Amino acid sequence: MSEILIKNVTLQGQQVDIQISGDRIIAINPHPKDEGVSGGITQLMSGIANFFSGMSSGDHGSGNLPNIAKSGMSRSAREGATVQKMKVIDGTGKWVIPGLINMHTHSGMSLTRGFEEDKPLVAWLNRVWEVEQGLNEEMIYWGTRLACLEMIKSGTTCFNDQYWMIDQAANAVEEAGIRAFHSYVFLDGGDAEKAKRQRKEAEIFFERSQKWDPRNHFTIAIHAPYTVCEENMTWVRDFTKENNLLIHIHLSETQNEVNESLRLYGKTPIRRMYDLGILSDRVLSAHSLWLNDEDIALLGETGVTTVHNVNSNLKLASGFRFRYQELLQAGANVTLGTDGCGSSNNLDMLETMKTTALLQKAWREDPAALPLNELLDMATVNAAKALRLNTGKIEVGALADLVLIETRNCAFTPMLDFYANLIYSANSSCVDTVICDGNILMENRHVPGEEEVLARANELALKLNGRI
Ligand SMILES: [Zn+2]
Repeated sequence: MSEILIKNVTLQGQQVDIQISGDRIIAINPHPKDEGVSGGITQLMSGIANFFSGMSSGDHGSGNLPNIAKSGMSRSAREGATVQKMKVIDGTGKWVIPGLINMHTHSGMSLTRGFEEDKPLVAWLNRVWEVEQGLNEEMIYWGTRLACLEMIKSGTTCFNDQYWMIDQAANAVEEAGIRAFHSYVFLDGGDAEKAKRQRKEAEIFFERSQKWDPRNHFTIAIHAPYTVCEENMTWVRDFTKENNLLIHIHLSETQNEVNESLRLYGKTPIRRMYDLGILSDRVLSAHSLWLNDEDIALLGETGVTTVHNVNSNLKLASGFRFRYQELLQAGANVTLGTDGCGSSNNLDMLETMKTTALLQKAWREDPAALPLNELLDMATVNAAKALRLNTGKIEVGALADLVLIETRNCAFTPMLDFYANLIYSANSSCVDTVICDGNILMENRHVPGEEEVLARANELALKLNGRI
């Protein structure tokens, strides 16, 4: 079991030490102001002594590192504990925030970054489907490793994915050390044979997912209401209810999708999903951009989680009037995502937060349209709630998914408002250290093995896009 002590880091303006044991946060103590010792390891050891003073009985407080470590650890860690097992991170000059959660991705699509720019939507989609014909398991694995690397580098510790060959994606996530939700994707195009085959496959994949690493979770995706037959949509409704699984769906992404739904069924896509009994608090609805008042009321009534993917919507010219305030007031849960790299080109949640806020303020003509604290909630606790994980916050008992932000740079000077600096001034280069599930995935901006991930992903992407 790993033990990590983060010394002298800043959490919501307070200097604290944070202790992690295994995958949980077990203690957050204010950092004593009167430490009085300065410099290097002496300061570190003194800090540890202060951190553990006042904890349960034992031979603490002598200033001798091995004794302190022994007395402060949990019983299991104490038995046979050695000094080397306690990893100490000096948090001086760093703030700690919860790991960010990206609620809509197609991680394997990282291999299509920059593959088709400045084209109309239909031409872009045709190219996606053409390129995806050439995907193989090796590509999915390394494409997902690339996505995970990018997310770690930009402070994301959990993502909600929808792509192909999910066993390979789950392997990549296990190796990378972060958390992910992988969908078995229903996309039958109305083909009855394929629809039947997909139902069998979904059951097989669900069964196989039981053996995945616990950081990987299984969900079912209805790609979109216009690509999946109603028989399969109601099958997904029943299967996910029976097995308490989340449903990941693209819903009301474009105006054209809504118009076609009205033409064919006399209903908006949201109303249609509601009437089919699909909407519930287990539904993660990507986009939800083109909504009328009734749609919003239905999403609120059923407690659906919506995922706003602002950069993808802008870049594909799908729209930008995401009705955040109305969704919030109706009782829907609102979260953020990047979408895949084929459309949004990166998986950067800090950039997503900034664009989301700027756009809400602009189209509402109201600078108070989306305050910083609500923006952060969308990228952390709201997402954790939707995924039913005790993460997205830093408190005792929560999962140890943390990000240390380096503040000794221009973006954070002056430090008048950390969150304004983080979202409006900084970029992901301020992400210094990332911890997920109590494991250090990146320290001082270096992720072990990143060079190999970049090399393999680049080589396979060139092959996939017909460049070599
Ligand atoms: Zn998408």
